Order: sequence, then C-alpha cells, then structure tokens
Amino acid sequence: MTDGPGEGGIAERKMRFLFALRSKGVTDARVLSVMERIDRGLFVRGLFAERAYEDMPLPIACGQTISQPSVVGLMTQAAQVGPRDKVLEVGTGSGYQAAVLACLARRVYSVDRHRRLVREAEAVFSALGLSNITAFAADGSFGLPDHAPFDRIVVTAAAEDPPGPLLAQLKIGGIMVLPVGQSDTVQSLIRVTRHEGGYDYDELRPVRFVPLVEGLSDD
Ligand code: SAH
Repeated sequence: MTDGPGEGGIAERKMRFLFALRSKGVTDARVLSVMERIDRGLFVRGLFAERAYEDMPLPIACGQTISQPSVVGLMTQAAQVGPRDKVLEVGTGSGYQAAVLACLARRVYSVDRHRRLVREAEAVFSALGLSNITAFAADGSFGLPDHAPFDRIVVTAAAEDPPGPLLAQLKIGGIMVLPVGQSDTVQSLIRVTRHEGGYDYDELRPVRFVPLVEGLSDD
C-alpha cells in the first residue's frame, strides 16, 4: 500500500530515511534499528508533519526545533548508550531524541524549560508505551541533582561551555555529548568523557543548535 501519489510507500520512505542516516555516518546497528522503529512523524505537528522523514531540523512549538535525524543518530551513537545506563537529556523539545535514548537505556530523565513541550512530549511517550522516560519542566543547565549521577548526558541546546553542574553530575566513566559555542554561529559537537583524574574532550563535528537559555519559560 502507498500513502498517496508521488510520496512513495511507507517502506520506501523508511528506506530513504535510513539511507540518509547511514550516508551521514550513523553506522551503529542498534541506533539505526531504534530509529527505524520510532516514528519521527509522531513528534512533528502541523504544517511540517509531512517532512518528518526528511533529514532536516523542523520547527516545533515554543519557537524551538526538532533536531535533524542524522544529528540525533550521531549524538546517540557518540554517547554509546548501554541497556543499564541512566541517561539525562537536557532539551526535551519534541521528545524524539529522548524516545530514541529510551529504547537503548534503562532510564531517561529529560528536562525542558518549556512546560508545554514537556506536556506534549509526555503524551507521545505514553502513546508509544515508553514508560522509562521521566520528563521535567526545569532549567536543565543545573542538571537534576536528585537523580544524579548519570552514566550518560545528552544536551540538545548549545551553551558556550559545558555547564559545571552537568560535568559534576556525570559518573566516573560516563560520557556527555553536547554542542558548545555561541548560538548564532556554527557550534562544535563535543564528547566529554569523565575519568578518575578529570575529563577528556573530543571534538566531533560542526552543528547548529538553539541556545541553552537560563531559567524556566512562562509557557
Ligand atoms: N531534543 C529535542 C530538540 C531540542 S531543541 C528533540 O529531539 O526534539 C532544544 C530544546 O532545549 C528546546 O526545546 C529548548 O526549550 C530547550 N532548552 C533550552 N535551554 C534550556 C534549559 N536551560 N533547560 C532545559 N531546556 C532548555
């Protein structure tokens, strides 16, 4: 069955989606299989819904964006999430990245400064039966001290430097993946690995994210 002339069938659409991920460097089989399973179309509403299977960022509510699928794949892959991991995501947005993480991890805590985004993402998580994600409305730059430390931290909004509280809430042996740099320029996606003696930093690739903004929003 196809879903309309000119659009190709669901299978073809999925194939193109996965091809785009692979050609941008998402090669981890577990990440690809989760991204094949989680329907990005559920996380994009309104005008842009029909573009949900293209490899591009799209606008969501509150003036924010759902990240480009290949960037979600690359960040997830770089975080090397395992089935026993407790993961913190800063920047719930649509909830798509959190849903992908939740299929690979034991538990995901996700935080956004917009209550509305948290509410809407929670509705999608329950529709998908993803019961291992807890979403909070809070300023994620302070992390979640009550649930720390974390095996993995994924930040999907750009700060100039890795926020101190997030570094402190990373377990020894833990990995944090985040964009750093000014919001109106190209930023660097970096991976921070914590070891006994401190932190190692790897630069992964250039990216563009919305800024990490201080404080809870009014909506
Ligand atoms: N991960 C999301 C994309 C997030 S866009 C997805 O998969 O759709 C970045 C998000 O970070 C926005 O929703 C924005 O509201 C949020 N954000 C920005 N600053 C924040 C902060 N200090 N604390 C928590 N969330 C923040």
